Amino acid sequence: MSTTTLTEFPSHNPATGEVIGTYRNASVEDVNAAVARAHASSRAWQALGFAGRKKVLVAWDAVISKRLSEITELVALETGKPLSDASLEISLAIGHLDWAAKNAARYLSPVTRNPGLIMANMKARVERAPYGVVGVIGPWNYPVFTPMGSIAYSLAAGNTVVFKPSEYTPGVGEWLGATFAEVAPFPDIFQVITGLGATGQALTNAAVDKIAFTGSTRTAKKVAAAAADRMIPTVLECGGKDPVIVDSDANIKKAAEYALWLAMSNAGQTCIGAERVYVHHAVADEFIREIGDMAKEIHPGINKNYGPATMPSQLNVIQSHIDDAAAKGAKFLIGGTDSVQPPFVQPTIMLDVPEDSLAITEETFGPTLTINRVQSMDEAVALANATRYGLGASVWSKRNGEKIASQLVTGMVSINSVIGFAGVATVPFGGVKDSGYGRIHGPEGLHEFTYLRSVVSERFALPFAFTTFKRTKFADKFLTSVIKFLH
Ligand code: NDP
Repeated sequence: MSTTTLTEFPSHNPATGEVIGTYRNASVEDVNAAVARAHASSRAWQALGFAGRKKVLVAWDAVISKRLSEITELVALETGKPLSDASLEISLAIGHLDWAAKNAARYLSPVTRNPGLIMANMKARVERAPYGVVGVIGPWNYPVFTPMGSIAYSLAAGNTVVFKPSEYTPGVGEWLGATFAEVAPFPDIFQVITGLGATGQALTNAAVDKIAFTGSTRTAKKVAAAAADRMIPTVLECGGKDPVIVDSDANIKKAAEYALWLAMSNAGQTCIGAERVYVHHAVADEFIREIGDMAKEIHPGINKNYGPATMPSQLNVIQSHIDDAAAKGAKFLIGGTDSVQPPFVQPTIMLDVPEDSLAITEETFGPTLTINRVQSMDEAVALANATRYGLGASVWSKRNGEKIASQLVTGMVSINSVIGFAGVATVPFGGVKDSGYGRIHGPEGLHEFTYLRSVVSERFALPFAFTTFKRTKFADKFLTSVIKFLH
């Protein structure tokens, strides 16, 4: 699709291909104008203070909750996911909005610091100031939950926001903008600009003060490069290749059940979804039997266990990973090289997959899972870490969960559970390595959208001064004696 000539673009139901809406393909001028308006309203939004902003965000939360079925249906329509999954996604997003609104004052209010003995006549504090305007670029897989982690926390911290939703979920983005407008005390606090990739690029080049991006590592690098050019910070939430590690003492039935859900739900289009399992050889047969039996009951379709690939081009990626694994000698427990049946992908579980296969090294973002046996948990940890990604992980062990988890090079880990870290509003969300940097959610997610300002002021004047050309010899001597005494 050429992005230079289109003024509008369609949104499709990925399950049927039907056009469900037409949206403005915002131009560079549109984006710059939105950012300029966001700057103009920035001071007034900051001036509302924590209490004023909390009122607005809690009111928005109430509108979303009241119209939950409306947004649930829209998310299901644009992404193809089942209604119950859409509802779960939105419930989690509402939880984050509420937490950010109610906790910004607690975590962002100025804190006083001890000035130390030599500077005892000073008082010191550290403030957290909002950046100004934050540009948020969102993905299509969780079009409410994921961007809300940046939008709610940015707004609560006192920034105005310009949000560019994915071209696959523009309707959801517009709905969020429209519902916020219903509770906004004045315009341009939270604006939504729809468009294609070029619109996102325009936002990274516009006069925003920070960019929060979720999507592929490839695009994240472009965003980071553009931001570096303008010397503005970014928070980047990219893909993952999350491992599930199953020890010999794990509850195997439960590990299999949860790993299956983590791999297949949302058609595998989850950045923190399971893509690889490393299971101790002593329990591997049992684990494989359990997960295989359960996987037979899982079916894609409209309002079935999971929906279609939201982004049609992803089907080629999934097919190439399956083909590559098959060519390298992997065995299929469930599914096969014919699993991709556009727009759906049948559950696919591959066994004994060579570690240099694309299904092990690259993000598949489909309902596929690799299962490899390991001799020890040391081997499981080494293989889990042998990836360029480092987003989340799940560890299953009754005795060794903490020990295994502590060795993983990932931003998040669940022990004897899956993705709990996404739902708990008080813990930060984000990764390391190619999975990105910076954090959304929790106190750290609020901190992310502020910069630090140290403020030091004189409490009382000393009889002599150090920071002046009129400094006396006595002042020099006094300082030297104090330093010698103290150190
Ligand atoms: P992209 O990274 O290309 O897109 C993510 C967002 O960035 C979209 O809103 C997109 O807009 C926008 N964008 C595209 N190009 C630019 C640019 N040059 N500058 C700024 N913003 C831009 O991901 P895709 O949607 O194409 O998915 C590709 C792969 O990324 C998937 O296969 C999956 O592996 C991974 N992914 C990971 C996600 C996660 O949760 N971490 C979420 C989504 C994808 P537009 O949609 O209009 O192109």
